Amino acid sequence: MKKAFFIILFLTILVNLFSAELVTVAEQSDYKLTSAYKDVMEFLFSAQARSDKIEILRLTTSSEGRMVPLVVISNEGIKSPKEMILSGKPAVLIMANIHAGEIEGKEATLMLTRDFVENKDNQHLENQVVLLLPIFNPDGNDKFGKNRRDNGPELAGTRYNGQYLDLNRDYLKLESPEVRGLVKLFNQWDPVLVVDLHTTNGSYHRHPVTYTANVNPNGDLSLADYMWKRFFPGTAKILKDTYGYDSIPYGNFTDRIQPGKGWSNDAFLARFGNNYAGLRNRFVVLDENYSYDDFKTRVLACYGFIKSILQYTHQHIREMEEMVKAADINTKNNYARENFILEFNEEKLFDVTVKSYEFQVEKIKEEDRSQYPPWFGDYIVKKTDVYKDYTVPYYGKAVPKRSIPLPGAYILLPYQDAVIKNLQRHGITAAKIKKPFQAEVEVFNIEEIKPAQRLYQGHVFIGLKGHYVPETLTISKNSYLISMKQPLARLLPVLLEPESEDSLAAWGFFNRQLVSQWTDKPLLYPVYRLRKVITAVERYQESVGQ
Ligand SMILES: [Zn+2]
Repeated sequence: MKKAFFIILFLTILVNLFSAELVTVAEQSDYKLTSAYKDVMEFLFSAQARSDKIEILRLTTSSEGRMVPLVVISNEGIKSPKEMILSGKPAVLIMANIHAGEIEGKEATLMLTRDFVENKDNQHLENQVVLLLPIFNPDGNDKFGKNRRDNGPELAGTRYNGQYLDLNRDYLKLESPEVRGLVKLFNQWDPVLVVDLHTTNGSYHRHPVTYTANVNPNGDLSLADYMWKRFFPGTAKILKDTYGYDSIPYGNFTDRIQPGKGWSNDAFLARFGNNYAGLRNRFVVLDENYSYDDFKTRVLACYGFIKSILQYTHQHIREMEEMVKAADINTKNNYARENFILEFNEEKLFDVTVKSYEFQVEKIKEEDRSQYPPWFGDYIVKKTDVYKDYTVPYYGKAVPKRSIPLPGAYILLPYQDAVIKNLQRHGITAAKIKKPFQAEVEVFNIEEIKPAQRLYQGHVFIGLKGHYVPETLTISKNSYLISMKQPLARLLPVLLEPESEDSLAAWGFFNRQLVSQWTDKPLLYPVYRLRKVITAVERYQESVGQ
């Protein structure tokens, strides 16, 4: 009897210990703390030890030397992209902590991992493989400092990584080990859907979760259309019905003094992850949780959202997979016949009802003006406690304002090692020219080179203006032919068109040959366009190495 009692006591302690280990730091501290890197790794390895569904791999090593963990969750215990292909199941990627001060996604992905250890919602693994990056920016995560923006916890990490880079601005230039590792993951694991978890402040409202798809006009907007019409209504309903949280398309009041005017999405730049995934013809969710909600609400709402997403994809991942495959084929075969959009206007996508508040608008007194940032203008807008809903246009559609026809291929002149390396990292195919040949090309005639006034992400942004002129030129050996007939063709004009806002030229990759020595006279833009494009590769085949 006594012996049995001690055995039971021992087992109880063991069970408690066992479960205690899989409690997040946020839960343990009653949402006063967030996990450090070491806490996340202990949680993940503990989860891996208890479940044959969970594998921890190394995505990459951060600039400060930390392993960035990639969690692979599958019924099959998949450990590599090859094993995933053999399973016949597509992947969904959920990534947290790219901005390491925005922390609830990290806690929510750990809770999700625990659910699979405890065999909760295992049916969600029947049709898909779940990839998690719970702590994508580990160096920023552990630089704990006062959390100045969000409503708790008191301490949180930094936005930047170990190199002082904003990783959500690095998708095109690829300077960080973290984003290089992520793009490698895109090329190897090829997730059909990418979910990127953030926190946002801005306008006051009553929705803990906000979301957007890709909105850059050069991405595949048929995929974005599916997200707005099917995916988001579906997941928002699950989130509300099952978890009780409101959600809304991501945005801010267009005019903070007159909230009735509209609700504006501002995530249009190609360098943001949501648009980068869209430019690669993949589905994407940019989740922005509401920073004024307390930490516990943000964690639980974010957890509810990712659970809702996996419930949705469990039912729909096959149709989504078919759509991204079709988008790849369409891009490869037809994109060169389209236009590249250089400038756009933001127009109404649909109407949205923002659950918000009544606001009081006060004129700033002249003597107090220095206390407020210039963008405040003449007024302070204060939230009252009175609820008010605003049904307004949602400005989430980029409508072309200035476009240019696309070429059939680009020619990159020799000695552009950093450029070719960048293109290869993205997964773009470029063929090295082995034998010179004559070609009818378009050469960019530079009219203006305008470096930015201030530094941005370690760069002086270079603005180029000019026009193309037709010429017949000899394309020299060691140039590269980069055909538009490839699934990643949407990335090519973004990176290589001189007037593209996010071009490699803008990021300074072509600085060496832009001006003549001792002058500010434009010299050369080292990328040409081949117009007769679709046939170009075949025509010049013998000049091109394999
Ligand atoms: Zn963010």
